[in-house]
Amino acid sequence: GIDVRTSRGTIRSARVVHAAGHDIDRLFPQVAEEAAVRRCRLQMLEVAPPGDVEIGPAVLTGLSMLRYGGFAETAAATGVRNELAATAPELLDVVMNLMLTQRPGSGGRPGSIVLGDTHHYDRTHLPFDDEHVAELVLREGARLLGAPLSVRRRWRGVYADSPRTDFLDTEPFPGLRVVSVTSGIGMTTALGLAPTVLDQLF
Ligand SMILES: Cc1cc2nc3c(=O)[nH]c(=O)nc-3n(C[C@H](O)[C@H](O)[C@H](O)COP(=O)(O)OP(=O)(O)OC[C@H]3O[C@@H](n4cnc5c(N)ncnc54)[C@H](O)[C@@H]3O)c2cc1C
Repeated sequence: GIDVRTSRGTIRSARVVHAAGHDIDRLFPQVAEEAAVRRCRLQMLEVAPPGDVEIGPAVLTGLSMLRYGGFAETAAATGVRNELAATAPELLDVVMNLMLTQRPGSGGRPGSIVLGDTHHYDRTHLPFDDEHVAELVLREGARLLGAPLSVRRRWRGVYADSPRTDFLDTEPFPGLRVVSVTSGIGMTTALGLAPTVLDQLF
């Protein structure tokens, strides 16, 4: 068995899965270093729905095509990237993925719109967010929705990123599995990744 030492005592277990997200760089620095893990900081905004608009689906844009492997490999993505490089290179500089979803409303009022995002990569991030980045997100969001936007809340997100793999999944010693999603697709893929890891354990 393996002893897992926690702040509330030691737990002994035959198998252990360590799934601490980006904190892998603090808790398993060697594993993180081998996979060249860095932290990705994201800036997102929650804005009021202009004109009380109601939007059913998630909305992605051409900038999203450059972010996701399935799209990014298509010939069309090169055309999109070239056009953006010529017309709005500042969006590529902040690695913008212009997309939005609307949160559930309440009391008959439509919900806030979560609008994002931008990506900034480093081992350690400063505590400050850049206002010019938020202004770019607002500018592009307003262009997309055809109306000026007012910010309700600002969201800084962090996730692990590796230039080598989207999924860090390793067994540093028998019985211990270290698993972190090292890309921005962990919400979508979690319900496949978790059962796969558990099926392999049992
Ligand atoms: C702003 C933002 C937008 C995103 N948008 C999308 C999207 O549209 N689609 C998509 O698929 N993915 C998206 N993601 C990425 C997705 O959230 C991550 O890929 C995913 O959460 C990574 O999963 P994980 O289980 O590896 O880590 P996490 O989800 O970070 O889970 C790790 C957990 O471990 C806990 N933990 C850490 N250290 C310890 C410790 N010492 N002891 C106990 N617990 C600990 C943490 O509290 C946390 O709950 C987004 C992420 C952000 C930040």
